[in-house]
Amino acid sequence: MSTRRKFLQASVMSSAVALAGKQVLAHAVTPFHPVINNPIVVSTWDFGRAANAAAWEILGKGGRALDAVEAGVRVPEADPTNQSIGYGGLPDRDGRVTLDACIMDEYYNCGSVMALEHIIHAISVARLVMEKTPHIVLAGDGALQFALANGFKKENLLTPESEKAWKAWLKEAKYEPEINIENRLYDKAKDPMPGGPDNHDTIGMVAMDASGNLSGACTTSGMAYKIHGRVGDSPIIGAGLYVDNEIGAVTSTGVGEEVIRIVGSHLVVELMRQGHSPEAACKEAVQRIIKRSPEKSKRIQVGFLALNKKGQYGAYALQKGFTYAVKSGKEEKVHASKSMYR
Ligand code: ASP
Repeated sequence: MSTRRKFLQASVMSSAVALAGKQVLAHAVTPFHPVINNPIVVSTWDFGRAANAAAWEILGKGGRALDAVEAGVRVPEADPTNQSIGYGGLPDRDGRVTLDACIMDEYYNCGSVMALEHIIHAISVARLVMEKTPHIVLAGDGALQFALANGFKKENLLTPESEKAWKAWLKEAKYEPEINIENRLYDKAKDPMPGGPDNHDTIGMVAMDASGNLSGACTTSGMAYKIHGRVGDSPIIGAGLYVDNEIGAVTSTGVGEEVIRIVGSHLVVELMRQGHSPEAACKEAVQRIIKRSPEKSKRIQVGFLALNKKGQYGAYALQKGFTYAVKSGKEEKVHASKSMYR
């Protein structure tokens, strides 16, 4: 063996030993892609536009996608007028606001909180679970204790508006998730379903930074008037969010139970791996939901939003009305997603 080769081998080994640690081992699993890309961020619903603007403050300056998605989704989390996320979210049937959130980076690192109460920025607690614990998910009181121990402030998340809506709901107390659109296919009289008029929406955000690395975040107060303790797809890695830095990043919104059944966001990533475009992959996942429950699918909303490694994005939903916001160096826009019905 040449002296030069021996030297190279020795220096590679010594730097591997010197750098041995969680992050470096993770690098070894998913190689860093040192390409210079055009950063881009996409997020669910019209309120994604304001969230994207906050994410862009970081992405536009060459910052990391992980920091961008966290900063982005904190915007609707703190907005009391948004009744489906964070502060001001509609409560469960017992009047308690419980939040679900998760975050995932380019190294398969991920963190999640489920049924977290009293903390506005559930996404930042999820990030701390990812970065400061050996675990991925903390739930309920344990998640709250962890947040408080890490300096988060305990607050009342139930705004007077959401309390009023809950009290009005209590009069009939019917659980019926409502599609957030006028859905002409859904004939309530003929086919009532367990669930209730809106509101359920989620902010799911996925981004690629200037280094070509992907990350995602997803946060919600879940289905309004749910049974206390119910957890939807949003904080479940693979269901409400998935990031594979070699392929793409995907998030979802809508009736979480249907997304969990097909492990929706992971499915969309895998379909992109097989060569589908982001939109085609999202459509295929929507079709999977319809195949399982064709009748129910007409009465509920589910939407997927995907971004691939080339910076191409696409979405697909069960029902018309799903929108998503895009921000890049070239574009700032809210798009209407294509849908299966109408
Ligand atoms: N996916 C959320 C949940 O099931 C709600 C939504 O996005 O509409 O909790």
